[in-house]
Amino acid sequence: MSFTLAIVGRPNVGKSTLFNRLVGKRLALVDDQPGVTRDLREGAARLADLRFTVIDTAGLEEVTDDSLQGRMRRLTERAVDMADICLFMIDARVGITPSDLVFADILRKRSAHVILAANKAEGAAADAGVIEAYSLGLGEPIRMSAEHGEGLNDLYTHLMPLADQFAERAAEDAPDTDVTLDEDEGDMDAPIPMPTAKKPLQVAVVGRPNSGKSTLVNQILGEDRLLTGPEAGITRDAISLRIDWAGPEGDAVPMRIFDTAGMRKKAKVQEKLEKLSVGDGLRAVKFAEVVVVLLDAAIPFEQQDLRIADLAEREGRAVVVAVNKWDIEEDRQGKLKELKESFERLLPQLRGAPLITVSAKTGRGLDRLQAAIMRAYEVWNRRVTTAQLNRWLAGMVEAHPPPAPQGKRIKLRYMTQAKTRPPGFVVMCSHPDKVPESYSRYLVNGLRLDFDMPGAPIRLWMRGQN
Ligand code: GDP
Ligand code: GDP
Repeated sequence: MSFTLAIVGRPNVGKSTLFNRLVGKRLALVDDQPGVTRDLREGAARLADLRFTVIDTAGLEEVTDDSLQGRMRRLTERAVDMADICLFMIDARVGITPSDLVFADILRKRSAHVILAANKAEGAAADAGVIEAYSLGLGEPIRMSAEHGEGLNDLYTHLMPLADQFAERAAEDAPDTDVTLDEDEGDMDAPIPMPTAKKPLQVAVVGRPNSGKSTLVNQILGEDRLLTGPEAGITRDAISLRIDWAGPEGDAVPMRIFDTAGMRKKAKVQEKLEKLSVGDGLRAVKFAEVVVVLLDAAIPFEQQDLRIADLAEREGRAVVVAVNKWDIEEDRQGKLKELKESFERLLPQLRGAPLITVSAKTGRGLDRLQAAIMRAYEVWNRRVTTAQLNRWLAGMVEAHPPPAPQGKRIKLRYMTQAKTRPPGFVVMCSHPDKVPESYSRYLVNGLRLDFDMPGAPIRLWMRGQN
């Protein structure tokens, strides 16, 4: 299950800082292996349950553009050729520089798998740089702060499906499998990437203890595997479980379900328990594409449930709310009305997200839950064309023009979708910092309604023209 990751990028973007974080004290293990030159450091890295080799091209002092064409290029090419996956790092505070473009070019030509990271992204000062990074055409950048340890969860999410590919490839011993990765990010007509065995849909089931998370996962599995672990998929360090969730039509959706403390307890990995942090469920959220917040119908929307649902939204995950133990509910109609009201009132940030009633015990409602998960995933991946957006924006502005703070009218000039997963939009305007929160909300709610993206954690940025 091992692969090699090369961290590349121009000097001073933070490569060594990330390298040191991934390697910790384990550098000594491979430091003086033959073949590892002083320019390329190699270390045994660990990220959650992943173990891999990491190569760093650091150790280069700032070079002039002349030598960049020479030594730096050769060194980077060597690292790229040695690696299965390349992490291309830019400095989000500086934005894209000409030498970044040189590296991007090397990577596009030589590397099968590139992960883009916009480093030094702690704080709002880096927002513009992160958005600029999209223009490299290397997909969605991971917002990272190597120094503060932020973005490592996203890095994990990017690495894991690839790690699985390399593991499967090694297992099959096939000479050449079709390993391609989201090169279509940014393509307007790109179809929504459907989950495959190699890239299963990443789902976290979270909720307070006893809401029924283990029962639900067992019901999906159709056997008592979770309770009887550890075994397939539940190794000592496992934090996820690979399943194929059979739908009503018989088609199974490949998924990876993230472990939470409650599930782990059932897996009898007792010795690990004391090491589990309270934030275990929170971590599962960061790794997931879709988060299922599982509530107990008898005690729904408790503080803990609200906190985790809010976190999922803030992390930009697609959210599905499932209300469990519906089998013992007597006044279903009344209860459902009450639940919907509480949902609107307590989680306005998730307006329109699906609320599904289920019984993990009997299995009722699980088909609807699966459908809701798939739909939330599709919405999360949705892309709207620039032409559609600008027609829409004109209509929105006409219906309700932005205010004129201190007599200065805010002009919304142009709008485009900068990213998916979750959908993120940039509006170019005059006085971006004067656009009130309420106006942004008006636009976000409008986007959700008019482009059929209910419950999506939509991101909207106001930008001035430079
Ligand atoms: P390298 O030349 O690409 O290996 O870069 P280094 O890892 O040596 O980092 C260059 C400088 O950036 C150092 O002063 C780091 O402390 C700093 N740095 C690295 N990561 C971050 C980060 O996430 N945020 C901030 N603000 N500084 C960082
Ligand atoms: P977890 O802590 O979230 O993993 O919760 P468990 O799956 O261990 O479930 C807690 C308790 O709720 C157990 O006694 C389950 O049998 C019960 N339970 C779970 N799902 C349902 C359900 O749909 N209906 C009923 N009646 N009980 C359930």
